Amino acid sequence: MGSKYANLIPICSETFVSKIAIIGSGIAGLAAARNFKLQGHHVTLFEKQATPGMAAHGFEIHVDGQQIRGDLPSRMFNRELWPNVARLYDDLNIGYEKVAAKQHFFDRASGRAFPFELPVDWRMKLGVATGLGTSPMLKQLQRLQQQAAKDLANGTVSGDFAQYLSHHGFSEEFSREFLFPALSATVCTCSDQAIGQYPAAILLDAMQKIASDDGLWRVSNGSTAVVSALVAYVDDDRCSTEVNSILEGTDAITVSSGGSEDRFDRVIVATQANHVAALCPTLPKDILAVMNSFEYEDVVVAVHTDQRFMPEHKRDWSVFNFETSSAGSMCTVWLNKFHTQWPVVTPVFQTIKPLADPSPETVVCSVNLQRPVVTTASKGLWDAIDRINQGDSRIKFCGAYAVPGIPLLESALLSAHRLIHTD
Ligand SMILES: Cc1cc2nc3c(=O)[nH]c(=O)nc-3n(C[C@H](O)[C@H](O)[C@H](O)COP(=O)(O)OP(=O)(O)OC[C@H]3O[C@@H](n4cnc5c(N)ncnc54)[C@H](O)[C@@H]3O)c2cc1C
Repeated sequence: MGSKYANLIPICSETFVSKIAIIGSGIAGLAAARNFKLQGHHVTLFEKQATPGMAAHGFEIHVDGQQIRGDLPSRMFNRELWPNVARLYDDLNIGYEKVAAKQHFFDRASGRAFPFELPVDWRMKLGVATGLGTSPMLKQLQRLQQQAAKDLANGTVSGDFAQYLSHHGFSEEFSREFLFPALSATVCTCSDQAIGQYPAAILLDAMQKIASDDGLWRVSNGSTAVVSALVAYVDDDRCSTEVNSILEGTDAITVSSGGSEDRFDRVIVATQANHVAALCPTLPKDILAVMNSFEYEDVVVAVHTDQRFMPEHKRDWSVFNFETSSAGSMCTVWLNKFHTQWPVVTPVFQTIKPLADPSPETVVCSVNLQRPVVTTASKGLWDAIDRINQGDSRIKFCGAYAVPGIPLLESALLSAHRLIHTD
């Protein structure tokens, strides 16, 4: 190991040094790079975008005479649902800070609006709640959290989330105006329909952990801080290099990109599952069938200054502002309150799943991202990925889609860690 890595402690004492290629530099690829580097291997990282994927959609905006930078998407975590993420950030000395999780919900059809805040102090909230709708929603949420804690402990949760809610008599209003938007426009970023199809146990467990006293956190200096710390473990960093094909031969694996060919001992494919078939066309049909079975939904995220996305009265503006209509739900994050260190007063927003287009002159940027769809059928696919990664092929797969749970930074990290343990 060169002096650059002198302070790193190898995870295991493997002596054979492999040439490893990692395709994709989301957090899964970056974490896999670190893990293999810590084992003493030589790591080459391919990324088709100009900068490492985890921070590739960050944005810059000139406002109030200041140039400010933010993440797209603005990601959060806590120690309960994201233990490996928190551990990694601590290991890398990455600073993080609490997010004020004040929320406002508005349903266009009924005209109902109410505030909410995490973590929930049930006794206080239920005691002092005023305003139409506040108490009934909170009471249902409290009942759901209590029921779920009992059912999860007894291992009696089965079926999908919509079935669980209906079986326990939760109102349609509670799901449509509060619960589904809260989950679909933040932590899961998917359609409201996909929330209903999630395995109930996964969402109920996540809700317990998100509502914990730990609250929610964000990395103080954004994803670029995480990326810089992880890229330091890469020997050969090849951004702006789209891999076209990965072919496994008897001695080595050939990675082709933009007219050049490189040979590696092992390749870690850390792209989305739906990119694998095009990249590795010669993989056995059963493996490609598994990869093609992971479904994705598009998620639009827009950064803008269009105040029409916020509650009508400024006194109601919160960090997270949810709106539901017959077309679905969206969440507008008031970035000035999310990034408490931003030295600007002009309001800047990030809307997840906008139900309408912000005025063009207010748009800073807008991207279409994808998120894996999780259903009760996903377990079979997660088991299949485990079997594939334990097989003889020297091409392995990781990414947020590949392990049980909501596809988050945590699952992406876990999938990278599993490669070390199956190695
Ligand atoms: C709107 C939104 C909000 C979210 N909020 C949160 C949050 O608050 N907390 C949280 O934990 N998670 C959040 N997530 C989820 C989290 O961002 C993802 O789970 C995670 O980033 C996935 O990481 P990954 O490494 O698996 O994949 P990706 O980040 O998708 O990385 C795959 C990489 O592979 C590259 N690639 C693909 N094909 C090629 C090729 N042929 N050659 C070279 N490179 C290639 C891509 O460019 C990309 O950089 C959010 C997601 C969205 C969409």
